[in-house]
Amino acid sequence: MRQKAAASSRVKLSEIFTSIEGEGILFGTKTMFVRLAGCPLKCHWCDTPYALPLDSGSDFSIAEVKELISKNRHPNTYKVNFTGGEPLVQHEAVIELAKFVRQKGLRTYLESACYDSARFAKVLPYIDLVKVEFKLKDSKVLDEKHYGSLLRSELECLKLAVSSGKTSYIKVVVTNSSSLKEFKELVREVFRVAKPAEIAGFIIQPSYKIDEPTLDVLFGFYDAVYPVYDQVRVVPQLHKIIGVR
Ligand code: SF4
Repeated sequence: MRQKAAASSRVKLSEIFTSIEGEGILFGTKTMFVRLAGCPLKCHWCDTPYALPLDSGSDFSIAEVKELISKNRHPNTYKVNFTGGEPLVQHEAVIELAKFVRQKGLRTYLESACYDSARFAKVLPYIDLVKVEFKLKDSKVLDEKHYGSLLRSELECLKLAVSSGKTSYIKVVVTNSSSLKEFKELVREVFRVAKPAEIAGFIIQPSYKIDEPTLDVLFGFYDAVYPVYDQVRVVPQLHKIIGVR
């Protein structure tokens, strides 16, 4: 499951750009995306397949990426997202770059599938805003045999994030084939680990152009969360709707 990370002084960078945040509780904010290459997972609806192999990225030194961050900085940028691929594959680089971003007075944001809670714990002190993503089995993120260990890691990351007092929210992508029974079990697990007051949002994200959920299916997922957490939201990916990357 673990990909070999680039040497810590080097970064395999897929792309860096500024756009409108299209997901989650901070959608609509001007955001710089630092997309690191490499992901050991394989969600069938992944929208960044080009960033999955570690060798898909261009090789840079940390100093060069810091320069790129400075060059790509737009005025009034709300935050810098460390994304992927899966940024924890290159967690040491994320730590160095997050320190730099904070020195420049910007917020740091981690978008992670949380496959490795030990790495997550190391990166967390340098991150201001955390998206903890939970995968349902129909994402085909891993084979059935390894799914349980991924779920335990995701729950551990959520626990670490809320206990550190970071602004943390949950995202779950759902398709028309996602199991409501499995989703309800996930909601129970999530709120065993985090109190409703400790999270900043619960986002149900409908899949886009692949097995898209109907309104009734979305209501099923929404209704499974609302009695426990009435701030649940169904939020599609804004950047795809407005046609920006
Ligand atoms: S974890 Fe993210 S980057 Fe990796 S396959 Fe899934 S959606 Fe794609």
